[in-house]
Amino acid sequence: MERVRFGFDGAAAVVTGAGSGIGRAIAMVLAESGAAVGCVDLPSSSIAGTVSAVEEAGGRAIAVPADVTDEAGLRAAIERIEQHLGALRLGVNAAGIANAAPAEDMPREQWQRVIDVDLTGVFLSAQAEGRAMIRGGGGAIVNIASMSATIANRGLHQAHYNAAKAAVVQLGRSLAWEWAPHGVRVNSVSPGYTYTPMTERPEQIDAMNGYAADTPLGRNAQPDDIAGAVAFLLSDAARFVTGTDLLVDGGHVIW
Ligand code: NAP
Repeated sequence: MERVRFGFDGAAAVVTGAGSGIGRAIAMVLAESGAAVGCVDLPSSSIAGTVSAVEEAGGRAIAVPADVTDEAGLRAAIERIEQHLGALRLGVNAAGIANAAPAEDMPREQWQRVIDVDLTGVFLSAQAEGRAMIRGGGGAIVNIASMSATIANRGLHQAHYNAAKAAVVQLGRSLAWEWAPHGVRVNSVSPGYTYTPMTERPEQIDAMNGYAADTPLGRNAQPDDIAGAVAFLLSDAARFVTGTDLLVDGGHVIW
């Protein structure tokens, strides 16, 4: 058996949510490790900024505006990435939203929107990627879940988000066995509290120092901390890893 390799050797990748935060850091790390990255995010996002940052670092990326709740748009996005960058081998689904309301007051629309983006959006993205990889002879997908799949965050009223993230972990296990015969591995990464625009929301920003104190490694994550774990799971170094969820939380959930 060949020795494991960590690089991506020009493989085509897609990263959803690549315009900001964790998705942007993942796009950067994959490009720096040799992947050619299709950066998917909403048209209103800063994907152009991600592409410029990748190019300035000597990497290859294209901006592909799409909404992860729009099946046809996702299909077109994958087609465009394959046309420009080659057969899709790597997929990362990081697009997501978060907000809060006490469960007893949460309007159905608020519940549904988070489920639509954070769960159905991950399924539709993985489905579009999986179809391309099955056609093309294999690949690897990482869905970004959350440690909120494992714990209920103290003080944060986000039953919809926590339920969606737990479902993303289980979705990964389900896709992992279905697509294993096609050479497609599927895993999830579950970040702990990470400094991004998402954690600057009013209900969370003031609690971030407290979360750091409640974390064995003594701090919250930076987006790059999460990106390294994603790169590992996508790489040949994780060739015997599928259907797993990797918590990247500085040990937060062990306390
Ligand atoms: P972020 O900075 O807000 O990035 C999320 C990105 O997803 C944004 O660019 C956003 O675009 C995009 N997006 C939202 N809805 C979309 C849609 N329908 N279609 C396509 N793109 C869409 O947040 P982040 O912290 O990096 O989050 C990335 C992932 O990590 C999410 O799945 C999140 O749940 C997860 N996560 C984050 C943390 C944390 O502490 N930050 C912890 C655990 C898990 P706009 O900005 O234009 O809305």
